[in-house]
Amino acid sequence: MSKSSDWIAVENKYYAQTVRRQPVVIVRGEGTRVWDADGKEYLDFVAGWAVDNLGHCHPVVTQAIVEQAGTLVQTSNQYYTVPQLNLAELLIENSCMDRVFFANSGAEANEGAIKLARRYGKLHRDGAYEIITALSSFHGRTLATVAATGQPHYQENFTPLLPGFVHVDYNDVEGIMNATTDNTTAVMLEPVQGEGGVIIPDGDYLKRVREWCDEKGILLILDEVQTGIGRLGSLFGYEEYGVEPDVMTLAKGLGFGVPIGAFLSKEYCMALVPGDHGSTFGGNPLATAAAFAGTRFLLDNDILGHVKEMERHLSAKLNELKSRVSVISEIRIKGLLAAVEFNSDISGQVLTQANEAGILLNGVRPNAVRLMPPLNVTAAEIDEAIDRLELALSKI
Ligand SMILES: *Cc1c(COP(=O)(O)O)cnc(C)c1O
Repeated sequence: MSKSSDWIAVENKYYAQTVRRQPVVIVRGEGTRVWDADGKEYLDFVAGWAVDNLGHCHPVVTQAIVEQAGTLVQTSNQYYTVPQLNLAELLIENSCMDRVFFANSGAEANEGAIKLARRYGKLHRDGAYEIITALSSFHGRTLATVAATGQPHYQENFTPLLPGFVHVDYNDVEGIMNATTDNTTAVMLEPVQGEGGVIIPDGDYLKRVREWCDEKGILLILDEVQTGIGRLGSLFGYEEYGVEPDVMTLAKGLGFGVPIGAFLSKEYCMALVPGDHGSTFGGNPLATAAAFAGTRFLLDNDILGHVKEMERHLSAKLNELKSRVSVISEIRIKGLLAAVEFNSDISGQVLTQANEAGILLNGVRPNAVRLMPPLNVTAAEIDEAIDRLELALSKI
């Protein structure tokens, strides 16, 4: 038992068939590359869903995990632990936020933010509980975050949905204005919609939403699960748009591969009090030690400057590719989050050929693939990835 096809048979037999997988059995990763069970090498431009921000098995992250695994892995959260407090201090000192709570995933981070917004509504908005979110958004797979997500296909099989979410078009401030009532407690948005297909809003969108929220006394929650920790070229996506949210959620890139989530809040709206919220694993020493080591490295080594430089390089390369390949209709890119859109629904075929050519991509839409390489990807790796993508497209 060692071939990829054998493992795929095991999955078919034993695993819940909830995920449409690509036929690639990844057994090892190093930097921007992974290897499958048959020894084939791939450039990984999915990076664990924009999670492996320093690539696979970065020595700084590996060392932090190994050291922490031999020191202290889990305690009850009724005790203080040092890695959790190191990470809390680092995030708060480098953001516009005052307080942080650690969870285990993006959905869980958003659940906490939703609870906070409801509690805030009870205390300061006369019991208001509605949260305005955007169509084509993605906020997670739990029942509350499925209700928050503005994509019917994630919701239809699980009705009745949790009440209290109102959906409006993304990048449409008037939509938010028209949907705001006495019952509104918050607006929750992604700075750039990731799962929605790398939808980049107008430069003044978030600023205008911020002004509206201030005028109405409602919270602005930014779901930075995908955009946070450097993905857009700033530590947090809000910095790119010159706004400060009241509440922000993080997950994906924060753990550098280890599961973690967080919600952060300004002091004036941290409405949760002792007993309101908790988590058995949230903020455990292992996850927070990895997150601290990775985030510290990212800040100390100007990885954010590197992201800006690589954004220019990847953007230029993708646009050159577009000029050579007629099936590409649009390139969208912000930081190291990019989408290549095609003029028809061929992303399934593109992925099959991309796997063959040795480049892992995400089919984010039927007509678009998403690229989200590690933030320390090199220009040479980008060049190689574009060559492989071009080879894949030539087979279609
Ligand atoms: C991935 C994602 C989530 C959900 O995160 P999980 O860790 O899968 O629960 C929430 N919001 C955004 C913007 C995401 O990209």
